[in-house]
Amino acid sequence: MSDVVAAPAPPRIPVRGGGSFPVRRIYCVGRNFADHAREMGATAPASRAERGTPVFFHKPADAIVVDGQVAYPPGTTDLHHEVELVVALGRDAPPGELPVEAAGELVYGYAVGLDLTRRDLQAAAKAKGLPWDTAKGFDQSAPVGAIVPAAEVGELALRSLSLEVNGLVRQRSTLDQLIWDVPEILHELSRLYALRAGDLVFMGTPAGVAALQPGDRCVARLDDLLELHCQLLPRSA
Ligand code: MN
Repeated sequence: MSDVVAAPAPPRIPVRGGGSFPVRRIYCVGRNFADHAREMGATAPASRAERGTPVFFHKPADAIVVDGQVAYPPGTTDLHHEVELVVALGRDAPPGELPVEAAGELVYGYAVGLDLTRRDLQAAAKAKGLPWDTAKGFDQSAPVGAIVPAAEVGELALRSLSLEVNGLVRQRSTLDQLIWDVPEILHELSRLYALRAGDLVFMGTPAGVAALQPGDRCVARLDDLLELHCQLLPRSA
C-alpha cells in the first residue's frame, strides 16, 4: 500500500564524532530543580521522601532545532528560556518497570537543550487548571546541541549546566541539584511509557528562567563537554 502523503523523515541530531541520532519522542520533566520550582511559585519538596512523582509533559519530535536558528514563535509575548540536560536513549527498555539500577544501560549520550516556553500561555493554563501543550509543544521549541556519547561525559552530578544570553549568565546549577536524577527519571517514565531507542528526555531547568527577545544569542553548556549555540530570529510572519 502506498502512502497518500509524503512520509516525514525523523528529526536527526548530530553526534559529536560522527553519525546522527534519529528522534522518536521527546519527554520533558517539570519542576526538577528546587530553586526553579520555588521561582515558579511551587513548593519544593523538603526531602527525597516528599518528592511525590515527577511532572512530565511532551514536545513533538519535530520541535527539535539543530542549526541554532529559532524564529520568535507566534502566540506569545513572553517566550522564556529553560536550559536543560537532554538524555538520548540508545536502547529499548525491557517490558515493565525499569529498575533504577538498570536505567543507565539505556542511555546513549547527552546534549544540552532549551525547553523554550510560552510563559504567558503556561501561566494562563495553570490558572485555569488546563494542559500546558500550547505553552510547551510548539514548532522550534526544542533547540538541541550535538549529542556526546555517555562515556565521554562521565559522572554527571558535579557537572555544571549553564546558559548565557548575550554573554551574560542567566542560569547555572550543578546537576547534583536535580530532584530526580537521570536513572530515577527513566525509572519513573518506564512506569508510564514504553521507552525506546531514539527517545529524548529533557531533564528540567534550574532557576533563572527569563524572557528572550528577537536577536538574543544563547550559549548553553555542560562544563566544557556539551554546547549549544542559538539565536532568536524575528517573529515569523
Ligand atoms: Mn523545562
